[in-house]
Amino acid sequence: MKKALSLSKIVLFSLVLFAIACGPNTSDQTADQPAVAPEVNVYTHRHYDTDKQLFADFEKETGIKVNVVKASADELMNRLKTEGENSPADLLITVDAGRLHRAKADDLLQAITSETINQQVPARYRDAEGYWFALTKRARIAAFSKERVKAEELSAYEQLTDSEWKGRILIRSSGNIYNQSLLASVIGKEGEDAAKNWAAGMVSNFARPPKGNDRDQVKAIAQGLGDVAIVNTYYIGKLLGSDKPEEKEAGEAVGLAFLKHANGGTHINVSGIGVTKYAPNKANAIKLIEFLTGKSAQTAFASANYEYPVHPEVEPSELLKSWGSFEEDDLELDKLGRYNATAVMVFDQVGWE
Ligand code: FE
Repeated sequence: MKKALSLSKIVLFSLVLFAIACGPNTSDQTADQPAVAPEVNVYTHRHYDTDKQLFADFEKETGIKVNVVKASADELMNRLKTEGENSPADLLITVDAGRLHRAKADDLLQAITSETINQQVPARYRDAEGYWFALTKRARIAAFSKERVKAEELSAYEQLTDSEWKGRILIRSSGNIYNQSLLASVIGKEGEDAAKNWAAGMVSNFARPPKGNDRDQVKAIAQGLGDVAIVNTYYIGKLLGSDKPEEKEAGEAVGLAFLKHANGGTHINVSGIGVTKYAPNKANAIKLIEFLTGKSAQTAFASANYEYPVHPEVEPSELLKSWGSFEEDDLELDKLGRYNATAVMVFDQVGWE
């Protein structure tokens, strides 16, 4: 009896010790352990000074260190695949809804829920399941020679295939994701046959075989090599804000036309962010998304990088407002990803280099 009692005492004593060991950390217990500084690791394809400043602001505000790895979207996505569950990455930032869709489809991201983010990013600009969220918007529009084209001549993407534009259209190659998403939007709006006709009509009106980036198309207008260029809006802002005289002059030589789809509005694309599948610092990652979609970061994106904010209460910069308001096309952004492969195939079929 005595022995049994002392045994039960030992068991009780052990349970108490165990409970203490598993209980909440007190300052005494953590005092000897090295402090792990809070951090968040970002893989980003965006290469803008604005982003750098915003990460510094976030660090100051939260004490969470932001470690940045910059590379091309394909390199970052391959890296995530290779690293698998050992990846240090918490967030992937890239441009183009087609790429964000691909990152989700390739199982590189995870779904998150945040009421703050949902309030700051309208449903249309985020993945329905929470895998990615847009940070900024950009429109793919026509820049036209102020000397040789009247604004009234340009209102729809489909007009660009008319014979009056023969030898006058400038646009980059079909390997570029912005063009793939533009064609994917035509497929989404009007179907594959219509998209094929449009792409073929564009090719027959090219001023030259596609080459260079968006900025180069606008410079080519200034040099008289063509009259209408298809470009993302922020590149016009960048040219106008450039210190290089020839870039500034190119920006000043063109007007902007917010072309529309036959049964819709102007093609919109986004840059965006998602939490990686194996994020070791998930809570910090969500905090950074909340910060980047918040009012002050959205204002910075809009003014410094000539992009349109996604936050419903943040206004575009004065320059963007001076270009006028426009009707955004309402095609679901994930369709840009869903129709990407078809778009690439159609480009190939019509010989768009
Ligand atoms: Fe770009």
